[in-house]
Amino acid sequence: MSSKSETCSKCGEQSLIKGELGLRTSRDLELIMVVRKDHGVEKKVPIQPKVCGKCGFVDLFVSNPSNLKICSTDKPIDPDFKQRPILEYDF
Ligand SMILES: [Zn+2]
Repeated sequence: MSSKSETCSKCGEQSLIKGELGLRTSRDLELIMVVRKDHGVEKKVPIQPKVCGKCGFVDLFVSNPSNLKICSTDKPIDPDFKQRPILEYDF
């Protein structure tokens, strides 16, 4: 499985398009990934695609998943958001 990163996870061909592919929105260089909806916290992380040149299957992954972990400094984006406070077991 050493070549897993080169292999399309749908068709199994080693035909992933090489090079740095990226996704972006028109007004922001990063995509927004919503995490912890129960806290109303959103975090921006760059999402990187892997595209199969044969079947077109797109795999998405983030390069820094640890940024998606919630921490005590994270605040709900909506100031009126009142669900439940961030608790220790959320970390
Ligand atoms: Zn494929």
